[in-house]
Amino acid sequence: MDNYQYNDGELYCEQTPLAEIAEKVGTPCYVYSKRSLVDSFDSYDSAFSPVERMICFALKSCANLSVIRLLAERGAGADIVSRGELFRALKAGVPGERIIYSGVGKTRREIAYALESEIYCFNVESIPELDLIDRVAGEMNLTAPVSLRINPDVESGTHEYTTTGKKETKFGIPYDQALDCYRKTASYQHLRVMGIDTHIGSQIVSTGPFVAAYEKIARLFRELVDDGFDLEFCDLGGGLGISYNDEVPPTARQFAEAVLPVAGPLGCRIVIEPGRSISGNAGVLLTRVVHYKQTEVKNFAVVDAGMNDIIRPSLYGAYHRIEHVARPDSRDQVTLDVVGPICESGDWIARERTMPRVNAGDLLCVYSAGAYSATMASNYNGRPRGAEVLVDGSDWQVIRKAETLDDLIRGEQL
Ligand SMILES: *Cc1c(COP(=O)(O)O)cnc(C)c1O
Repeated sequence: MDNYQYNDGELYCEQTPLAEIAEKVGTPCYVYSKRSLVDSFDSYDSAFSPVERMICFALKSCANLSVIRLLAERGAGADIVSRGELFRALKAGVPGERIIYSGVGKTRREIAYALESEIYCFNVESIPELDLIDRVAGEMNLTAPVSLRINPDVESGTHEYTTTGKKETKFGIPYDQALDCYRKTASYQHLRVMGIDTHIGSQIVSTGPFVAAYEKIARLFRELVDDGFDLEFCDLGGGLGISYNDEVPPTARQFAEAVLPVAGPLGCRIVIEPGRSISGNAGVLLTRVVHYKQTEVKNFAVVDAGMNDIIRPSLYGAYHRIEHVARPDSRDQVTLDVVGPICESGDWIARERTMPRVNAGDLLCVYSAGAYSATMASNYNGRPRGAEVLVDGSDWQVIRKAETLDDLIRGEQL
């Protein structure tokens, strides 16, 4: 949250007062710091500079065209999981050769679009998926570049829903079957095996799980080379966590220092797919307090952002730091729930939070909302999604307009 700070009791993003943005574009709205996005990307780029690298920003964390373009201009590629994300990546100017396609359920239509777009590689998660990609590529008279996503069966110490490298999850090819699966690729006519891939989860706050996974992947990589495979890259996935509250995740440099001794000696190109660690703390959600409500047992700040705007608390019980945009004069503290207007008891942003007194009309800043917030937003309860804004010093621009009521019914027919 380096680029969010108080000046004279007013919260700023870089040199722009957040109150000014809320005033002009309305609330709720998402604000991103350009400096923060660029610095986070650059820190990966320099940390991995000892090796040939490709840093594919995970679009599912934050997919606004302007954000993608900003990173693409600095050399970023894209890690995509759908045809919609491929469309965005291409629109934003990411060249096909820097696009990696992940995900367990790529459809025929999605595969065809990716082949047409000449993406760098499909990270394939099962034999049935290999079959399908081979078939589609054959029909199109093309050869599909593939790597296998291997599930290394390691603990990542993160939330059950963001753990992807354990064998009971749906992701990847089980480690024990990997060698056989690679050998099986020889029987396909329209596939070219390019590399190896893994991704063990998200919001992982220590290097241990990564190192454990990459040691297994490196061992397999060497077995494959011995077996005659010519692998161009090793994709280490994403998953480095950020500080939402008091976590102290490794920096990009510490991550690289831990994993390059394992992956570097493979001598191939290293691909990484960071999402949250680039976008998460670059963004905030601004929301205004509609009512302050007290009951016998609870205090509530009812705000104009709900679980449709930021679902992480409801979905994962996630913690987001919240502060007043105008720092209150009084030192009085109150313990309250910050809740949205949606008709669900799960619609909360903070629970039992102790913070300075909150009044109707106050503008609040929900931190760490640059990742998995706008991209997970929905129109549930008939709520138009808020604007997205990119701040650059004392300049800022709307990079996605707030939705209108007409946007809510677009495509519907009477
Ligand atoms: C979600 C995901 C990422 C990005 O994860 P972060 O935790 O945001 O870094 C990277 N690769 C794959 C395959 C993913 O599913």
